[in-house]
Amino acid sequence: MAKRDYYEVLGVDKSASIEDIKKAYRKLAIKYHPDKNPGDKTAEEKFREATEAYEVLSDEKKRPLYDQYGFAGVDEQMGGGAGGAQYSHAFHDFADIFGSMGGGFSDIFDGIFGGGGGRSSGRKRGGPSEGASLRYDLNISFKEAVYGTKTELRYRHNETCSECKGNGCTPGTSKRTCPTCNGIGQIRRSAGFFAVQQPCPDCSGTGMKIEKPCRACGGRGVVEKSKQMTLNIPCGVDNGKRISIPHQGDAGENGGPAGDLMVIIHVEQHPYFERDGQDLYCAIPVSFTQAILGAEISFQALDAHTITFSVPAGTPNGKLLKIRGKGVPYTANPDKAGDLYVKVMVQIPSKISSKEKDLLEQYMSLERPTDRPSLVRIDSLGN
Ligand SMILES: [Zn+2]
Ligand SMILES: [Zn+2]
Repeated sequence: MAKRDYYEVLGVDKSASIEDIKKAYRKLAIKYHPDKNPGDKTAEEKFREATEAYEVLSDEKKRPLYDQYGFAGVDEQMGGGAGGAQYSHAFHDFADIFGSMGGGFSDIFDGIFGGGGGRSSGRKRGGPSEGASLRYDLNISFKEAVYGTKTELRYRHNETCSECKGNGCTPGTSKRTCPTCNGIGQIRRSAGFFAVQQPCPDCSGTGMKIEKPCRACGGRGVVEKSKQMTLNIPCGVDNGKRISIPHQGDAGENGGPAGDLMVIIHVEQHPYFERDGQDLYCAIPVSFTQAILGAEISFQALDAHTITFSVPAGTPNGKLLKIRGKGVPYTANPDKAGDLYVKVMVQIPSKISSKEKDLLEQYMSLERPTDRPSLVRIDSLGN
């Protein structure tokens, strides 16, 4: 996401005094305060944005760096997954800025900035975490999508390790606090002017180390296994339809819930039929005499039943004839279906016998000739 200029965020100009900056921030923070806008992500983002801008512009060391180098001057501190600890300066000012209102702010801060940073209490490291949801791309035929089908899904996913019950430790042993970071999960490293927080490389930021990894899963707590299941696909599904199967994705870690399996339906094309929502479309050639005189036409429908319908006398080329109730059944109500539209394609023979030619010439002599044909709109033809 592109970042807005800090001065623009606070609505002050570059020469603004610290008092102006404080005032501007106070106004925005009160307006977008998460307590006032519960569940409003935009307000939360605005609050976060304003706090970040305030944190830099109210700091007598950071503001000149920002003025000179822009975000690059302060990014090492502000960028990445901002942890609460990096906002300690703004945090410290809250009592000053908000007076009595400042009371509940530490909770809000934890909520918005993902809690914790350097504070070990703020983060549940190594606790239960949800397993990944998996995507399964399933190809089905056009006909299966319209009338439904039953299919076998085969895929690989992570299951909770039965040896260690998912905690990653050899049975009888347990995890201990990481000695490198003392269980905090983060270490501080100095980089030029700044001290930077980083996930602890020794424990990958979990704060805990496995003493003796489980030999079945290598300490992961999960093992990859192949899985097979039957999926009923209802009638009426369309291309791109997602079917979510709860808890059939990867197992969660440390007792966390499993992710879901998301099946995404890809419908193959049919050589003759097309679909628009609940309606089916196909085209059928008729001779020009059938179109002029009218005819009964039969063809094989998508469900292999024979459909007979009448082409009325005088049907123009391209006319769509509707056959009610022969379209795509509704998923929620399979007894009901959309309509089938048959497009009439009038065929003009390129070769005719001499007898046919004689008859057509007789017919032509009976036609009332149009002496000066006038142009018509292209879209007026056919229907
Ligand atoms: Zn294991
Ligand atoms: Zn560590």
